[in-house]
Amino acid sequence: MRLVEIVSDSKAILIGRSFTIDGFAQRLVRVVTHAHSDHVLGLKDSIMYSNYIVATPATHELLYTLGYIGGANYRRLYEFKKIEMNYYEKREFDDETIILLPTTHILGSAQVLIDTDGYRIGYTSDFKLGDNTVYIKQPDILVIEATYGHPVYRRRFKHDVPDLLIDLINEGFKRYGRVVIYGYHGKLQEVMRIIREKGVEEPFILTKKIYAITQIAEKYGWRIGNYYLSTSREAKEIICSKQKHIFFDHMVKAKYRRIDGSVLNIVLSGHEYNEPVKKIDEYTWLAALSDHADFDELIEYIENSQPRIIVVDGSREGYPHIFAQELRRLGWNAVVLPFKRNG
Ligand SMILES: [Zn+2]
Repeated sequence: MRLVEIVSDSKAILIGRSFTIDGFAQRLVRVVTHAHSDHVLGLKDSIMYSNYIVATPATHELLYTLGYIGGANYRRLYEFKKIEMNYYEKREFDDETIILLPTTHILGSAQVLIDTDGYRIGYTSDFKLGDNTVYIKQPDILVIEATYGHPVYRRRFKHDVPDLLIDLINEGFKRYGRVVIYGYHGKLQEVMRIIREKGVEEPFILTKKIYAITQIAEKYGWRIGNYYLSTSREAKEIICSKQKHIFFDHMVKAKYRRIDGSVLNIVLSGHEYNEPVKKIDEYTWLAALSDHADFDELIEYIENSQPRIIVVDGSREGYPHIFAQELRRLGWNAVVLPFKRNG
């Protein structure tokens, strides 16, 4: 048995005998590290095949709310097979144990630590360094993401973004009384939390799905507060009375944004490496708020973790081969899985 395998087509990360993580494979246990689409792949097949679907309680709720579970038949099976695991809780399946560990990525995100026949194998999944991120200490094998595994991806300004974002919001309030923020599910809630932590208490107005996800975030301890469904009476009153507020909408709507001088738009982008905020047009700014570790953070994780062997996930977006090469240059024992096909 190989301790770790990554399948290129399904993007399944196979660890030990029992576990398939973030992609479908014919294994006893399917683990979902977080509710981003490239980690929910093949979930319906897993619901059919696997005996257990493991995730944190928040991730399970997000899977449901974001519509990843499918129709009534899948839902029934899923309800029967789902296992809610809190961080640091340990479970055993077929003589192998699994623990989910906290991380900073999106609501509900987890790292995975599996013990199989005395080998400790960790998987970071997507992460960045932050308050929640723990280091998996001295695993025999560490599987790590490499989204920004290229040395050009260093975000020296990353700690400035929250303050600059607040400056933009205050500028928007002053000029128009209204700010609209566009982003993806999960990231929007992270920004809401940052805005509240920075002391901005104006009401948030949210579209339906964003509202549902924000309720889940609050349920799991994120302090947001003072937010309203866009169709509610309260929201309409806030808008009619020209009270200062922030409207949150999904990224796909950003192309229909108003650029008529009635509102300041902020588009949350993970892919900006030159400036923390950037003006797009007279009424629109990009804010570079990434969910992923930059190159320096990836290295910092490895140095704190001290794994014996590093497996770089080459099945997802990023720079796995360059990252593995850099790691080897620094003296680490690193490989990319899946192995590159010939030709
Ligand atoms: Zn992700």
